Amino acid sequence: MKLPHFEYEAPASLDEAVALLVAGDGSARPIAGGQSFVPVMAFRLAEPSMLVDLRNIPGLDKIEITDAGVRIGAMVRWRDVLDDARLVEALPLLPAAIDHVAHYQIRNRGTVGGSLAHADPAAEMPTIALTCDAVLEVVGSKGQRSVKAADLFMGPLMTSLESDEIITSVLLPAWPADRRWAFQEFARRRGDFALAGIALFYDEDASGAAHNVHIGAISVGDTPLRLAKAEAVLNGRKIDEAAIAEAAAAASAEVDPSGDIHASARYRKSLVGTLLSRALQGAANRKAK
Ligand SMILES: Cc1cc2nc3c(=O)[nH]c(=O)nc-3n(C[C@H](O)[C@H](O)[C@H](O)COP(=O)(O)OP(=O)(O)OC[C@H]3O[C@@H](n4cnc5c(N)ncnc54)[C@H](O)[C@@H]3O)c2cc1C
Repeated sequence: MKLPHFEYEAPASLDEAVALLVAGDGSARPIAGGQSFVPVMAFRLAEPSMLVDLRNIPGLDKIEITDAGVRIGAMVRWRDVLDDARLVEALPLLPAAIDHVAHYQIRNRGTVGGSLAHADPAAEMPTIALTCDAVLEVVGSKGQRSVKAADLFMGPLMTSLESDEIITSVLLPAWPADRRWAFQEFARRRGDFALAGIALFYDEDASGAAHNVHIGAISVGDTPLRLAKAEAVLNGRKIDEAAIAEAAAAASAEVDPSGDIHASARYRKSLVGTLLSRALQGAANRKAK
């Protein structure tokens, strides 16, 4: 289908981009790689008066690793994440998850900021941001602010961002050595959106008990989810067979997914338990550093 008519600008600074969004008064939209928004426009789900292309704005395409963690610029593409060998040590959950995103062509254009702003509950990056307690930096007409990933996702493809706000980066807090982690997802074909997925990490105390358990789930709700009940089952316990079975049952019970042509709600509920069980078995043998 042909795209609707729109104006196009590619400003060279964040100030100019924000000014264009303000002038558009809600009908101008930022565009990054176009990998989600162009299809949205083609289906006439959005008809913006103007696209404000972020590609010429300097400084948005960097990955920085500091004591605070991994800061990823909004215009960093999936390809850049997968090509950065430092991430495998600093935050191995991230490249493990992004390895499941789409196909070559999309990975060459799709961006971290675009995925967070698009807020698809079936996408990997929003769930990783939520699971890792990420904080986004955002710029708009009222200045700069930080937004916790937990406060970003409001519903399917809906965020708490104002229409003149641009994500500039996302900070994923630093990981301690020896953190246990795993990523599991199931899709009909490699690169397809997940029917369900689990992102997991926890730390172990001297006795071998798990604490600080973080479990994120993909594609089983209107937004990316943290599975608080399954986390509560595991916190303070050794991750043995009984704990894994109990947590998997809790995960299946606490999600309320919708069914669609790809999978029924019942199947997704069952799948999330299975994936958590696999993730916990994998995490027991996998340390961050
Ligand atoms: C066939 C296909 C398969 C795919 N499979 C997967 C998959 O398996 N997993 C997955 O996670 N994704 C998948 N995607 C989506 C892909 O990962 C996109 O890269 C991602 O959704 C974001 O696209 P983009 O960066 O090009 O953003 P765009 O499409 O340019 O923008 C998306 C939205 O974000 C807004 N936006 C963009 N950048 C910013 C910013 N910095 N600040 C504020 N708002 C911004 C735009 O206004 C728009 O609303 C797939 C896409 C296609 C076409």
